[in-house]
Amino acid sequence: MPTTVLRRTLDLAGLDVPVVEVSGASDGPRLTVIAGVHGCEYASMAAVRQWSASLAVRDLRGRVRAVPVLNLPAFRARSPFVIPEDGKNLNRCFPGDPAGTLADRLAHATFTQLITGSDALIDAHCGDLPEALEPFALYEAGPSEEQALALAIAYGLGYIIRQEAGPDRAVGGTTSAAAAEAGIPAITAEAGGCGLIEQEAVDLHVAGLNRVLASLGMLGEPASDAAGPDGAAPPGDERGTARPVVLSRFIWLRCDEAGWWQPAVRPGETVAEGQLLGTVSTLDGGQVLQSIMAPAAGVPMFITSSPAVAADGLLLGLGAR
Ligand SMILES: [Zn+2]
Repeated sequence: MPTTVLRRTLDLAGLDVPVVEVSGASDGPRLTVIAGVHGCEYASMAAVRQWSASLAVRDLRGRVRAVPVLNLPAFRARSPFVIPEDGKNLNRCFPGDPAGTLADRLAHATFTQLITGSDALIDAHCGDLPEALEPFALYEAGPSEEQALALAIAYGLGYIIRQEAGPDRAVGGTTSAAAAEAGIPAITAEAGGCGLIEQEAVDLHVAGLNRVLASLGMLGEPASDAAGPDGAAPPGDERGTARPVVLSRFIWLRCDEAGWWQPAVRPGETVAEGQLLGTVSTLDGGQVLQSIMAPAAGVPMFITSSPAVAADGLLLGLGAR
């Protein structure tokens, strides 16, 4: 029996979320791939659309469930970070709450119907509309972390960040953190940003997903047209970074006051402790309100690319050893 592909919708908190279900000819792992947890992260959505379509011609073991666009309200409203209905960031709400607002309910439905029961979870992201980003993968400390690290290495991005649960954790309530707490190996994979569909970022995601399939033992013999009808990378593609830089701290920097943010560094640039990362100034340009210095040596993983920042606004995420 060949690989079968079923496109349907799943009722998640009253939303008809598109799901591509791919069943291989033989039993094997259950891999869940999600994109569009944030509504304007188009490169990762484009990659999951392209990659899931390419699976029809593969000789696959096991099952893949791929969601190209999860957060339909934010996608349709072109709303970065938050769901317009309740102003909440979906990726801070996992594992969710069936009695909460839309973000809580969508997180709960996603967690119980898509993530629970998976043998591995890949949550594909990029910088949102106003975010420039250096490709990286994030995983959590915990019982499944060795397998999560293996997924991160397989995905092949240049940087890997390991997060420990606790007060120092930069970001909690994510898909991958909730999965890790349930013992499911999971990563958040980030490439692309700024509301663009850059082919290079799409290719990074597609190649990463292909290597995850290979690392989980889900690929049988390549089908005759291994590259797929849409140019997807063939199985076993080795374009990923062979030796990623593993970072143990993720420091998110915010401004005190609202104003005009002007970064002085770029994503992926090595910065020294104490180096100027950017300034927040008055809109009239007359006064610098705050100079943002690097609290540690590291590499900016993402930088807010929009000059408009609110009080306590997120400016930059610094990966540090
Ligand atoms: Zn995101």
